[in-house]
Amino acid sequence: MGPRCLAAAVVVLLLLCAALAAALIYMQLSKEEEVCLTPGCIQTASVILSSMNSSVDPCDDFYEYACGEWIKGHPIPDDAPSVSNFENLGQDLEFALKELLEAKDPNGTVIDKNSAIYKAKQFYRLCLNESEIMDEWRKVFDEVVKMFGGWPSLGQHDPSMRIEKLYAIMVSKFKVDSLFKATVQPDDKNSERHVLLLDQPALNLFARDFYIAADNDERLAYMTLIRDVLVLLKADAQTATRDAAEVIEFETALANITMAEEQRHDIAELYTKMTLGQMTRELPYFNWKMFFNEVFADIKMKNGTDITFDDSTEVVVYGVEFLRRLDKLLPQFHSRKVTNYLSWCWFFKTMLRDLPDPFSLTIFKFYKSLNLLNVQKVRWHGCVTRINSLMPMATSSIYVKNHFDHEAKEQVEEMISLIMEAFTDLLESEDWLTSETKAFAKQKVQTMKQKIGYPDYLNDSGAVDQEYNSFIVYPGDYYRTKFKFYEMYQKDVLERIVQPVDRERWVAGAALVNAFYSPNTNEIIFPAGILQPVFYSKHFPSSMNFGGIGVVIGHEITHGFDDRGRLYDNMGNIRQWWDNITITKFEEKAKCIEDQYSNYMLKQIGLTINGKSTKGENIADNGGLKQAYKAWKRYEKSHPKPPRLPGVNLTHDQLFFLNYAQIWCGTMNDKEAVRKLRTSEHSPGPIRVKGPLSNSNDFAQAFSCPQGSPMNPYKKCRVW
Ligand SMILES: [Zn+2]
Repeated sequence: MGPRCLAAAVVVLLLLCAALAAALIYMQLSKEEEVCLTPGCIQTASVILSSMNSSVDPCDDFYEYACGEWIKGHPIPDDAPSVSNFENLGQDLEFALKELLEAKDPNGTVIDKNSAIYKAKQFYRLCLNESEIMDEWRKVFDEVVKMFGGWPSLGQHDPSMRIEKLYAIMVSKFKVDSLFKATVQPDDKNSERHVLLLDQPALNLFARDFYIAADNDERLAYMTLIRDVLVLLKADAQTATRDAAEVIEFETALANITMAEEQRHDIAELYTKMTLGQMTRELPYFNWKMFFNEVFADIKMKNGTDITFDDSTEVVVYGVEFLRRLDKLLPQFHSRKVTNYLSWCWFFKTMLRDLPDPFSLTIFKFYKSLNLLNVQKVRWHGCVTRINSLMPMATSSIYVKNHFDHEAKEQVEEMISLIMEAFTDLLESEDWLTSETKAFAKQKVQTMKQKIGYPDYLNDSGAVDQEYNSFIVYPGDYYRTKFKFYEMYQKDVLERIVQPVDRERWVAGAALVNAFYSPNTNEIIFPAGILQPVFYSKHFPSSMNFGGIGVVIGHEITHGFDDRGRLYDNMGNIRQWWDNITITKFEEKAKCIEDQYSNYMLKQIGLTINGKSTKGENIADNGGLKQAYKAWKRYEKSHPKPPRLPGVNLTHDQLFFLNYAQIWCGTMNDKEAVRKLRTSEHSPGPIRVKGPLSNSNDFAQAFSCPQGSPMNPYKKCRVW
């Protein structure tokens, strides 16, 4: 073959190559243009489009861009202080449970009165029956108050009843945590075993700030509530006014000695292990031995012998300073005042909310004055919530049977392993961790356990029935039934003191819209309730699932490495596995996030975020977004390209971020906004969008945001 021939052949070959390339590009383009027209895609596209305000520049205000129309179309309902995509999911779940609890058994079914579902349904029915409750409640109330040695505001008080004994009954039989929290949980420094735990109490008015700020609306409304309720309970008006003021006086004193949440982040610093002997010496006013022996008075070992405590019994205390102050505070108050406070707390937490009018009207007035509701919530909501928290595995078992798509579990498993890989890769590329710390971190993520959907034993109704075997329903008697349920629930918690930690146990039920990281067991948990739109759907393009449940997965994994989670090793023990150089670097990076968020203002009320108390959640949001995006890009490479959504002119990278933002679409009234800023560990929705996205180079690239634009600032913060 001569040179001319060769040249001609080369030209022909080049032409062929060019044609082939053009065809390939064309095929690729036309593939990209492929539009999905299934009902699922059309529905998804319509939800996305009707939520966003595309007239706004996404680089200016991505929250408004993603949620502008959603907000216009979702006014706050009269029976709530806020509305959001996230809260709406919870509402849907409540509706689903309502239907299941109300469902009639098919004709001819033999009813097993020992089954957990039967008990749950009966409880729910008793809870709805207001006239029956009105006829019966006072009898049970009087019996309990008698067991307490009387309620001084109502004219009876046995001064020989020790506070230790009274409070022990409230803890063991009614789950009350009003003076301090006392429970059984895995030991943070020995995660194989359970230990007695003491912590500061949960106050009735949302947060300590509400007691400490001078004469605020919340405190005044609360005082009116206590007085009105005491009058309804037949206290004389003068006593009711005086005692309501005294209850607030004691509760305010208690609030004053608690630590602010933002100072309680370092569990290692908070943790003190003491023996009962030591407590008796150092905290002499309150008889701790008497208290614990009384709490466990009805709890037995497996072989039937009593569980007793002596000087050598170990107790873990979170914030021993609180107990020191409590030990000085208690003798300053007459036992009548303390008893009034405790009796009020018991009534408020266990009875008041479920009592029909005139009680429900009184509590409604309280919530209304705080702007929490404008109309009374329909009764069944409370009944569903109560049974879902007291018999979580019974409600979960019917929920997953009817509403859980098993395909979800497989897909989420695949996503988790991709996101864990992404986390490990990102870890590899970090230069601020020393190689030892990096190796430990890798081991921690690789040994992290995962629980998805629900525990397998829920498929076996016999096992669920067994779990609630000791729960007794008293026909016609709601409160007697409810109190039995409380007692049995607490018994299950307290009995663990003599049992090793069961790592297979689920710390939460499946009928919940939430996800968790448990530091004691180094595991991530995704209940069935969160595996639904907007977080996840098998009809979503995978980009949206990664932007939804994918970010949640990354968020929970990152909790293992946030300011609190990083203190625990891979077995769930607090131990210093970080070297000091890395700790200093971590703290610098975390401080960047803290300062950044402290400068964010929630425009609606003109207040800034508390960067300190939201630090852990913000670190998790930022890390979760980054890992999920990296995992999505990896997934995209090994899977066929998903078709476009009809009418949605966005790439899949853009859809990833859009779905992340749309999860947080919502509004709240001003009072609620203030309350959230003061009490929540999470930043409010608009900030959960602004923070992580403006720290993300991936986001800036996907939306071509110019450097220095509001959503792509020059200064960015990140830990992971
Ligand atoms: Zn979180």
